[in-house]
Amino acid sequence: MGKLAITGGTPVQTSYPEELFHWPVVNDAMRRAQLEVLESGNMSGTDIAERFEAEYAKWQGRRYALSHNNGTSALTAAMYGLGVSAGDEVVCTTLTYWASCIGALQLGASVVFCDIDPETLQMSPESLESKITSRTKLVIVVHYMAYPADMDRIMAIARKHGLKVLEDVSHAHGGHYKGRMLGTFGDAAAMSLMSQKSLAVGEAGMLVTDDLEVYRRAIRYGHYDRISTLWKPEEYRGTKELPVGGVKNRMHQCAAAVGREQLRKYDREMREIDAAMKYFWAGLDDVGGLRIIYPQEACSDKAGWYASRCHYDPAAFGGVSSATFMKALNAEVGHFAFSNGCNFPLHLSTLFTDEDIYGYGAPTAHFFRKDGSNPGDVTGRLPVAEGIMPLLLGEPWFKHDDHRLINPYIEAVRKVAANFQELAGIDEGADAAVGGVALSHRRQGGKEASAL
Ligand SMILES: *Cc1c(COP(=O)(O)O)cnc(C)c1O
Repeated sequence: MGKLAITGGTPVQTSYPEELFHWPVVNDAMRRAQLEVLESGNMSGTDIAERFEAEYAKWQGRRYALSHNNGTSALTAAMYGLGVSAGDEVVCTTLTYWASCIGALQLGASVVFCDIDPETLQMSPESLESKITSRTKLVIVVHYMAYPADMDRIMAIARKHGLKVLEDVSHAHGGHYKGRMLGTFGDAAAMSLMSQKSLAVGEAGMLVTDDLEVYRRAIRYGHYDRISTLWKPEEYRGTKELPVGGVKNRMHQCAAAVGREQLRKYDREMREIDAAMKYFWAGLDDVGGLRIIYPQEACSDKAGWYASRCHYDPAAFGGVSSATFMKALNAEVGHFAFSNGCNFPLHLSTLFTDEDIYGYGAPTAHFFRKDGSNPGDVTGRLPVAEGIMPLLLGEPWFKHDDHRLINPYIEAVRKVAANFQELAGIDEGADAAVGGVALSHRRQGGKEASAL
């Protein structure tokens, strides 16, 4: 029997501090707003959604915001809005949630993946540039795990090659890069407002842009009932206000009502999360082997700290895997607070290279490329992304800056780091690292599970 809980010792904590993790924080204004929509008999209208859009656009500092039923549909509509069409290529980082890019396949385009920067986990500008071909139309930049991507270099590359840029801000609402808000760099941005994201609304998404044409096209793609507000009758007459995307992207008004109230308190909540996470890391300053992933430039931040990870150096812990280290930490605190790994690299999925999705009798991605080549050939091996999973450890996502409640988590890390030798015998190796399709926060027995 060792000192660590996982080897039979006494855990640091035995009770679960629900209030430290519960998300979203629900207030009376949200409850009232829900009920009003429900009782109004207008759940499928757009009046409340339009108010939410106006407030969101103002908060985001962009001219237009268009509400969607989820982030996935907002991203696909943004691609259509930006003119992605048959035969085009979009370049996307391979480390992201699938919805950043799969929508391109619906538009007859193919996806080419690029590698990441090992320090920041963001799209590598060098790798991005190496993937650009004469068919490339769009760069999809994800501010992955709340960290701002290298927008100076990415925008310069995109402008140099005449490419459009779409930001996926699903992990970093309200974040900044060198003082400028994420979502204001690209030609458009889209974001999930799903209930486990930091700006948590429910099943909901938003598209923002300053470009009227992008906004108009996104409306025509999936908001049939609003076509006549922005398109002249002679522009759509023959089509009778039918959505060209064949999809219906309208946001539920209950979600819009919740969204309006969430937005009102989001800046304050972000500040509290930021203080809590920084307090946690300040308590681990002198622990070797774990290194915070945080932007170094002035006025860049990790707003919301969604799915935040740190660098884990197995060599500092006698080769013990991050998976085993994580299990030891969770045993100390009594719930699934620490996680490991990240989304699996998307380029390893044959969905993007071999699958005949629409029954053309050939792999969809080849069929969509004018020369019939395989996007997998361009994507190639992306060694940094492929090797990163065992080198990451996800820290708990504290929603309140309550030092008394956070201290046990600091203590747990210090204790496991000081006694890592006890883990050598139970280490299952790096293969136990998890990689999933989604960063989900499953609830296990009433306890938040920050898993992949
Ligand atoms: C969650 C997420 C999406 C998709 O949003 P939904 O609202 O779940 O459809 C897109 N991109 C990223 C990076 C995400 O994390």
